Amino acid sequence: MSKYLSTRFTNLETYVPGEQPQDMLYVKLNTNESPFPPAPAVQEAISQAEIRLLNLYPDPECRLLRQKLADHYSVKIENIFLSNGSDELLNFFFMAFCDAEKPVAFPSISYGFYPVYACLYQLPYTEIPLHENFRLDPSDYCGIHKNIVIANPNAPTGRAISVAEIEEIVRTNTSHVVMIDEAYIDFGGESCLLLTKKYENLLVCQTFSKFRSLAGGRLGFAIGNPDLIADLDKMKYSTNSYNINRLTMAAAIATLESDGYYVNNSKIIQDNRAYTTSALEKLGFETIPSEANFIFTRCKTIEGGALYRALKSKGILVRHWDKPTIADWCRVTIGSREQMDMFLAKVREILEEVN
Ligand code: PMP
Repeated sequence: MSKYLSTRFTNLETYVPGEQPQDMLYVKLNTNESPFPPAPAVQEAISQAEIRLLNLYPDPECRLLRQKLADHYSVKIENIFLSNGSDELLNFFFMAFCDAEKPVAFPSISYGFYPVYACLYQLPYTEIPLHENFRLDPSDYCGIHKNIVIANPNAPTGRAISVAEIEEIVRTNTSHVVMIDEAYIDFGGESCLLLTKKYENLLVCQTFSKFRSLAGGRLGFAIGNPDLIADLDKMKYSTNSYNINRLTMAAAIATLESDGYYVNNSKIIQDNRAYTTSALEKLGFETIPSEANFIFTRCKTIEGGALYRALKSKGILVRHWDKPTIADWCRVTIGSREQMDMFLAKVREILEEVN
């Protein structure tokens, strides 16, 4: 830290992204990326159409892509906001809607960026505890008269709540904005997108990083009523008008035209999730029921940090947090069957070594 940094940021604890090691090839099951490449049409769209136009700025309004997304989800273009990864959208949510009079609440165990944004903007925030087996009780959020962010399915637990439960939260907090972060919704959960037609205080956040194999392209989006979208636009045009680059825009349009490819990949991931969960159960692991492309699991005989380190030394990366309430657990991204077999083989080796 330099002596010039504003004192506002002296105690800011930044988000620590999952490792992206460049030194050797790992079986990478630590940041919930898709193991599948983008659809062939995406690769063609980038190589042929857009590279020669990179000397020109992209369309700041992203009209073509927003219209495609609007058609895809049966909403209007003015219901769509695009962001540089959904992280940027979450940032704009905290920036636009929260302040000392409008505090924010989110689950105590959830996506680690939420408290970072709250600290960045020096907001009062409440972390609402989860219950047994990391269950989120929707009634903890009903009528609390705060802005609310909930990841559904939740990360890192993988647990989801129902659309009816979300509706109750939105309906009982109409003086505040409820953001449902659906980064992992396409792996078996039920989206609450349609509720945005009924409630003006609901924003749904999704990403192209997981189901749509485009983490490296950085694209997220919000769906909500036009006034909320205009508020997000205000943040964008005060930060970076060209937040979506040309290549990502072309890739995303081709992505939306290849939906069958991604739906099929999601089915494979869901099969591999069931396969991995049951193999781990036979090895004495306890796994939280997941509707995401990862599982949260713990071993009865080896602590989470030790398992993470042992796996890393054998070339497998998973995610572990030191936070006491979840230190026993590891989050394992569900990859291809081959990756999961390599992971399971290394887990068996480790168990033999410790027992
Ligand atoms: N929300 C949740 C719950 C996440 O886990 C993540 C990233 N892993 C994000 C949002 C951000 O994803 P991205 O910025 O790649 O869209």
